[in-house]
Amino acid sequence: MTQEQTALSVALEQLKMTAEKLNLDPGIHSILKQPKRSITVSVTIKMDNGRIGVFKGCRVQHWDVFGPFKGGIRYHPNVTLDDVSALAMWMTWKCAIMGLPYGGAKGGVQCDTKKLSLGETERLTRRYISLIFDYLGPHRDVPAPDVYTNEQTMAWIMDTYSQLKGYRVPESVTGKPIEIGGSEGRVCATSLGLSYCVREAAEKLNLKLKGSTVALQGFGNVGYNAANILHNMGCKIVAVSDSSGGIQCNAGLNPYKVHAYKNRTGSVRGYNDCSDITNSELIQTKCDILVPAAMENQITKQNATGIKAKIVAEGANGPTTPDADKVLHEKDIWIIPDILANSGGVTVSYFEWVQNLTREHWTLDEVNSKLEKKIVKAFEDVHKLAKKEESDMRTAALMLGVGRVAHALKTLGLWP
Ligand code: NAD
Repeated sequence: MTQEQTALSVALEQLKMTAEKLNLDPGIHSILKQPKRSITVSVTIKMDNGRIGVFKGCRVQHWDVFGPFKGGIRYHPNVTLDDVSALAMWMTWKCAIMGLPYGGAKGGVQCDTKKLSLGETERLTRRYISLIFDYLGPHRDVPAPDVYTNEQTMAWIMDTYSQLKGYRVPESVTGKPIEIGGSEGRVCATSLGLSYCVREAAEKLNLKLKGSTVALQGFGNVGYNAANILHNMGCKIVAVSDSSGGIQCNAGLNPYKVHAYKNRTGSVRGYNDCSDITNSELIQTKCDILVPAAMENQITKQNATGIKAKIVAEGANGPTTPDADKVLHEKDIWIIPDILANSGGVTVSYFEWVQNLTREHWTLDEVNSKLEKKIVKAFEDVHKLAKKEESDMRTAALMLGVGRVAHALKTLGLWP
């Protein structure tokens, strides 16, 4: 995070710029600036050493004109209410762009999962969910995984919600393990959706995917799976990183092997025949496609000038500041914005919710082909609008998402 910009200041600046472009009613703009509801809670648990641990938690529900709130839960030492508010707002636009019947939400607990035992993480999850329970539910707000939460976390959430209800409610959360109602394809969905977007953008740029070089920041769910899928599509993965730093290898890396190494050692650093690089060096690595897939505000005015990629595909939410956007635009670098590029996750979460509500289970092929259809259509919608407006893809994506939400808000009116 740079000193001058926070995720919330970025989200609000984007909204302001979009409101001007759309000539939005100032009243509607004021409504959309604020979340509909923010809940803050104190998550108190018994630690393994017998002491009491107190953690700050929150759930922010931005706007819900199309259906229940939907959004991930993040566990991170630096997560703040402001960050979560920005992430919730981006979820609202993302769902609107994809045409999903959801509003945007996000949750967070300020904690370092690397310092918590499995038992402590479980107790923290169950306590947090019990504190926001009244505002959750399959038709109210449906959580999903985000940074440092995973399938196991979602299983505990589903169980906690179900225990409090008194009956099993698989549709209360998405991103669950398959054996308890999760969807085929959910784990890789964000990365697969991103890879489809990269494929579409490469086609428009006449860039051959086979042999194209890729650098990825973040080697978790989104970064690792994107590296694997792009590798399988014929790209050459030349650099990857995690929170402790990165590695570069111009001959190309096998993401699967790097992942196995990271699982063994805790980091990608020190991997065979690679040079260790810093996260800031990774951003400026010589490559055709750069995938930021870690945290917010990683591409800034300062480092954007050194970016050499032709395409920046945003796996992370909010990785690029508005100042950096301008630099990339001037350099003719094609940004596939987060609210489009990483929307595969919420799309397959929606598929999971539909399967749970209808007590059906779709095959992996069904899930992936539905995802491909939906994300390629959204990509085309955004691209067409960008051409019409002679704008970059982010401006067009925001215009599409904010415009749809604003229109629905106006049509619904205010009550009481
Ligand atoms: P994750 O916890 O699985 O992985 C995060 C990765 O980022 C880890 O490799 C971690 O080491 C690395 N990291 C953390 N801080 C870093 C830093 N300062 N510099 C470099 N690397 C750092 O999380 P994830 O689910 O892969 O989420 C990554 C991003 O993608 C987040 O912005 C998240 O909001 C976004 N996202 C995730 C999903 C999803 O389905 N999981 C969907 C949409 C968007």
